[in-house]
Formats: sequence, C-alpha cells, structure tokens
Amino acid sequence: MRYVSMCLLLLVAGVAQADTMTTPASTLASGSLLTDAGMTLPRESRVPGGIALLPLPADAPDGTQVWFGKQRVWVLSRADGSRVAVVGIPLSAKDHIELHLIADGKDNTIAIAITPKAYKEQHLTVSQEFVTPDPKQLERYSREAAEQATVYKAFHATSGGWPVFHMPVVGIINPDSFGSVRFFNGEPRAPHSGMDTGAPEGREVHAPADGVVVQTGAYFFNGNTVMIDHGNGLVSMLCHLSRIIATPGQHVKAGDLVGLVGHTGRVTASHLHWGVSLNDARVNPLLVLPEGAGAEMAAGSGVMVPLQ
Ligand SMILES: [Zn+2]
Repeated sequence: MRYVSMCLLLLVAGVAQADTMTTPASTLASGSLLTDAGMTLPRESRVPGGIALLPLPADAPDGTQVWFGKQRVWVLSRADGSRVAVVGIPLSAKDHIELHLIADGKDNTIAIAITPKAYKEQHLTVSQEFVTPDPKQLERYSREAAEQATVYKAFHATSGGWPVFHMPVVGIINPDSFGSVRFFNGEPRAPHSGMDTGAPEGREVHAPADGVVVQTGAYFFNGNTVMIDHGNGLVSMLCHLSRIIATPGQHVKAGDLVGLVGHTGRVTASHLHWGVSLNDARVNPLLVLPEGAGAEMAAGSGVMVPLQ
C-alpha cells in the first residue's frame, strides 16, 4: 500500500516518476554486468528470488552439467571457452543453495551463500472466492498448477545465448511487487512471484524475448495466461490478459504481439503480471531487463496505479 500512496502523490505533484522507477533497478544491479565479454547475462543478485552467476572451474570436464535439485541449470559458454551457470534462486531459499556439477559419473557439490532479503508486505482486497475457493475451484486450481509446473520444470536445450529481454508492456512498473508477502482480505498467502505493471485494459502485450508459446489458458488465479519457453529452463508467464492472441506451438520473437492487458483472475485492477522462471525458480523480472528499461517504459506511460 505504501507504494500506491507514494505513486499517487507523485502523480498529483507531477514530478519525476521515472526517478522512482530507476531506484530499485539500480539497487538490484550490484554485482555483475549485463554484458560480459560480448555475452548477454542477467544481473546477479544472490537473494531469494534472485539469480546467481556461477563460473565453472576451468578444469571442469567438457559437457559438465549443473543441477539444482531435480532441475537442470543453464550453462553458457563464452568465446574463450569459459563457462558460467545461470542459476535461479527460489523465493523459499534460506541461507544457501547446493548445486551439483556432474561429469564423468562424478558429482561435485558446490554451496552458494544466499543473502536474506526482507520483501515488503502487500495487503489487497479481492473477491472472497479468491481467498477461500470452494472445493470445485480448488480442484480446478490444482489441475492448473500442475499444468504450469510441467512448463516450469521442462528443459529444452537450445544453442543460443541468454536472450535480450524487453518490457512486455508499456505501463507503470510496481518495482516492489516481486516477492512481496501477500495478504488477501487479511489472510496470508504465497509470496508474489512476478512483477506487476499497471496498464489500461486492451493495451498490447508483447513477447519479452524470443521463444516458443508452450501454454495458454484461462486460469482461476492467473486469468488468461500465455507461457513462453525461452529455452534451457527459462520461461515467461504473462497473466490476467483480456485476450490471448498467441497460440501454443507458435514461435515468437521479442516484441511480437501475444495478448492484450486485462483484469481476469485474482486482480484488483487492470495490469500485466509478468513472471520469469529459471530452473523452476521464480526470479525477479527486473534482473533480466536491461538497466533503465523500467524507467523508459514508465516515462512513456499513462497514469495507472498497479495493484496486484
Ligand atoms: Zn501479479
């Protein structure tokens, strides 16, 4: 709620909204660069919901695979032959995570320290059915969650590099929305696993990066949704659409139209929810965007206040 009041104040005062949007991105940017020796990489942030960039030891055999639990991790190779594992850190991570470097039948375990992060609380009021669903709705939800989990857990190896991401919609980013501890009608629920951007109903939603549309559906909580597999365990989810335009199996390029902004599912107002999943861990979408992308979008936007 604090963000909403702050945002309203800024709108009333008519002062630099863009400044508000750049602060979180720059605080997240501590650590690595987006471009590393000609290779695009996400920003590193070793916190729950963040991303770790783990250089592989130079003597790790060719074909070394990195696994996080049952999930394979994307390993990128630079032109000089060095390799880096790009690891999604789940929001549920505690003080460390363990990775397994597997080659020639050997399993080398590496622990990575995770810095705790206190995400903000968000209190929202929604239709009561989204807080205490009836048994039929719960059954529907578990079916849909299983469908989405299949997409998150898939690892389709591609030879390309880490994709260049763009904001999927023009609007006002709520930079505090990812990871926020949610209370719906006063009741605690799972943390928010995506980033919300306030935008009017009907505004175009674009693929944030190249990929394949692997799933579309009208889901109970997420509303009309498009899931895009960017390869190697990296997936985008675009939710609450008024209209789905992409179809499963469709290959999309960054910027292709995939749907229209709406307010379907568990929402308080029209907006786009964009989730990014890496090795089945939901990570902060700000980490995959070029620095300042949020500010750019906010500057050219309307005056919507993001709420969910
Ligand atoms: Zn959301």
